Amino acid sequence: MAMILIIEDETELAKVLRSYLEKAGFNVTTAYRGDTGLSTWEHKHPDLVILDLNLPGMDGLDVAREIRRKSNTPIIMLTARVEETDQLIGLELGADDYILKPFSPRVVVARVRAILRRFEDRTESHQVIHVSDLTIDNKAHLVLRNDELIDLTPTEFSLLKTLASHPGQAFDRLQLLEATQGNTYEGYERTIDAHIKNLRAKLETDPKNPQYIETVFGIGYRFVKTS
Ligand code: CA
Repeated sequence: MAMILIIEDETELAKVLRSYLEKAGFNVTTAYRGDTGLSTWEHKHPDLVILDLNLPGMDGLDVAREIRRKSNTPIIMLTARVEETDQLIGLELGADDYILKPFSPRVVVARVRAILRRFEDRTESHQVIHVSDLTIDNKAHLVLRNDELIDLTPTEFSLLKTLASHPGQAFDRLQLLEATQGNTYEGYERTIDAHIKNLRAKLETDPKNPQYIETVFGIGYRFVKTS
């Protein structure tokens, strides 16, 4: 289930949007300020952000810039002023779409679906990740370290792909579990730890001093960011 973050200070509007998106099957988180919205984005890694332009705490444009600096999470901007739209599609800002207020929540749901679909297509075509001295081929489902084939189980592969797609970003164990398409169940933390241990044993020259996958104490794991 895709997770949508709504950052909108008009609480009624945020509520209506949330309820439409939830009915459409999305998991929704809401923030009412720009600054708290940005920290929610950092912690929850939503699949898409619906971002109001005029927000207390931090301007919507600044929130969008910050998100873009770190990731390609799709962003839909909301604005009440026609004259702002040029600025919004401004490519440097990197918003994927904008919607003028007032709007029908149904339109928003349709746009969200369309953008997520487009984004998935784009992600699918980037099937080979080169990071550090690893090559992760999503299509062939194989991992090479300096041309040496490393044999991973499907779960180990998903974990590595998730971590290596976002070097430097910490993932908690629940997020990693979801990335492996598992269900939440008791003891999942130990399950992820066990998979990571196996993954390190195959990947790392010295698993006790990992050069690829680091432990982030109190949170989970992250792929080491090089350069
Ligand atoms: Ca506003």
